[in-house]
Amino acid sequence: MALSALDLFSVGIGPSSSHTVGPMRAAKLFADSLKGDGHLAATVRVQAELFGSLGATGRGHGSDKAVVLGLQGLEPETVDTSTADDQVAAAALNAELRIGGHHRVDFNWDEDVVLHRRKSLPAHPNGMTFRALDHTGAVVSERSFYSIGGGFVVDGDADAGDQVVADDTPLPYPFTTADQLLAICRRESMSISDVMLANELVWRSEAELREKLLGLWAVMRECVDNGCAAEGILPGGLKVRRRAPSLFRTLTADTGVTDPLRAMEWVNLFALAVNEENAAGGRIVTAPTNGAAGIVPAVLHYYVKFVPGADDDGVVRFLLAAAAVGILFKINASISGAEVGCQGEVGSACSMAAAGLCEVLGGIPEQVENAAEVGIEHNLGLTCDPVGGLVQIPCIERNAIASVKAINAARLALHGDGSHKVSLDKAIKTMRETGADMKTKYKETSRGGLAVNVIEC
Ligand code: SF4
Repeated sequence: MALSALDLFSVGIGPSSSHTVGPMRAAKLFADSLKGDGHLAATVRVQAELFGSLGATGRGHGSDKAVVLGLQGLEPETVDTSTADDQVAAAALNAELRIGGHHRVDFNWDEDVVLHRRKSLPAHPNGMTFRALDHTGAVVSERSFYSIGGGFVVDGDADAGDQVVADDTPLPYPFTTADQLLAICRRESMSISDVMLANELVWRSEAELREKLLGLWAVMRECVDNGCAAEGILPGGLKVRRRAPSLFRTLTADTGVTDPLRAMEWVNLFALAVNEENAAGGRIVTAPTNGAAGIVPAVLHYYVKFVPGADDDGVVRFLLAAAAVGILFKINASISGAEVGCQGEVGSACSMAAAGLCEVLGGIPEQVENAAEVGIEHNLGLTCDPVGGLVQIPCIERNAIASVKAINAARLALHGDGSHKVSLDKAIKTMRETGADMKTKYKETSRGGLAVNVIEC
């Protein structure tokens, strides 16, 4: 499966790539299939069942709302985040859905979107089944999907058999391991971002790619701006107050401060701003997931604000190098908290950001790989235990801490020559095996860790 940087980084809606973006995409796919297969006219009702981690924490992650929006033809990239909640409320109030945006069916919120807290589908913890019924109550179409992290959706229909997002485009420089990637860099005298760029050109021109990546960077900047401006309490009932606005005011007011760690506080701000926006259901860029969406933007903001000579070329190279590392995690382990815990989300993002920064600070490929390895090594074993099933505690603060860690990893790697004991491939393998050994209660179910030791009030 060939993966593009634009698979790793995509515009979405908060608070979760696997629990919000993925279900919305799956619901839209189902709605589109009803139309494509000629079943829409006979459909008078549509039901959705969410299983596993989606069932356990779907309410807090907005999975049910995402399904309603997706069935009505809306997409994470373009849905108006300021009216999304109102559209869902209207569907519930009016007891009707407009499948694909047009076809009216009756809708009963309690009966038609069911979250199973203890039942799972066989192939993945994030499973969902959609069913269309005719006026006799007979099933006219039923399909299952899996949301496998980062907004990726897989068709669970055994007959369809394949992944919705599968792409077998031959790449000029295919790689599935960091060792292979480094061998290509050495053989071709290319940087890691050069290799990614060459591969990306099979899908689109360099100008188009650059425009898309800088477009993503613009969404990241807008997200930080929004997060710095939005005051108040985050939704969901935990009464978590947004911290980015007051920190932003403090940092911009104290212009004469000479604290050498001031840059670190700006990095904290950038990450808090993004993740608070994500928690509020705002527009974000999956990087590679929503829960970990603050790390790459925070480190990119650090690059642009504090590294002399930073420019758009550097932003593009940063994102390409980070994406190369993200692909390694996606192929060889997982970027899904429901599969491997938070090491797959915050750990992968920390590793990606470390690689991106090391690349634009002039690191050779071996140093970039070293930075990525440090970025994941010190997140190994990180569990996913969001309090109340909301992507707020520990998620928001965790992004800030991991952003600083990513910068440290890049700088540490730049002080070496690229040689090191633990390879990135070994660290990713360890992450996968640690995730397999991790108890289910630590994988986005909110049945372990902080989720059971912090009183929700
Ligand atoms: S704890 Fe980590 S993996 Fe779990 S929801 Fe929060 S950010 Fe995502």
